[in-house]
Amino acid sequence: MPELPEVETVRRTLNELIRGKRIERVTVSLPRIIQRPHEPEIFAAALAGHTIESVERRGKFLRILLDGLVLVSHLRMEGRYGVYEADEPVELHTHVRFHFEDGTELRYKDVRQFGTMHLFAPGEDLVLPPLNKLGIEPLNKEFTLQAFKKEVAHRSTKIKPLLLNQEYIVGLGNIYVDEALFTAGIHPERTADSIKPAEWTKLHEAIRATLSRAVDAGGSSIKSYVNGQGEMGMFQHELLIYGRKNEPCRKCGASIDKTVVGGRGTHICLKCQPFPKKRGSNAAKPASK
Ligand SMILES: [Zn+2]
Repeated sequence: MPELPEVETVRRTLNELIRGKRIERVTVSLPRIIQRPHEPEIFAAALAGHTIESVERRGKFLRILLDGLVLVSHLRMEGRYGVYEADEPVELHTHVRFHFEDGTELRYKDVRQFGTMHLFAPGEDLVLPPLNKLGIEPLNKEFTLQAFKKEVAHRSTKIKPLLLNQEYIVGLGNIYVDEALFTAGIHPERTADSIKPAEWTKLHEAIRATLSRAVDAGGSSIKSYVNGQGEMGMFQHELLIYGRKNEPCRKCGASIDKTVVGGRGTHICLKCQPFPKKRGSNAAKPASK
């Protein structure tokens, strides 16, 4: 699933490619992608005649701002956008086509069919589902160390699922949580309330640095992710721990483990991310697969 850096890369590309284009009509061939309004015919009719003003992002969602409408799009597992000339052959799994007046088309392709689109009046989208409960943007100024700790530090939940929960901090998924926890030297199964002040500082820095570097590299191309122009991101070559099971740790040389935390495959270096032992007890041992 694309995470913040991948969605941000798609956003930047689309913003260049479709800003200023006027929609002539919309074709929906897989109704279930369209979540709001429920009827795809109403969705299509509402968009006709509107001009795209910019493409924004909130968490892992794209927000396509038009004159008088906001289209919220989530790529989920494998959704992709591409801009084509109208006479170019339509690829398999293309479910929504936005036909522009200039003879080009924005096409949404989604092999897994999990992606969603919601259409709102301006101002509605941020206060209604699916965007209304989203947490802090980690690359914005509001993501201070204090704000970060205020959201999560008091909780008795394991740190990895907390970081994945979009209600606290948005944009992080399995790849960048593993990367940030490794960089900060924190075991993913430690509870948030067991993490020390110096470790919060490291984790806060690691989240910002990891995401910023990944955005600069155009995201990570894992499995099928490509940006809006069909280009691959390059950050997968810089990943420190994700996808490196049994390979040597880049910090200490120990073999990287893969386990399951909160139902998600998790990469960890047990030497760099030790699980603190409780005195006189070994009841707090992390689950090992
Ligand atoms: Zn290590």
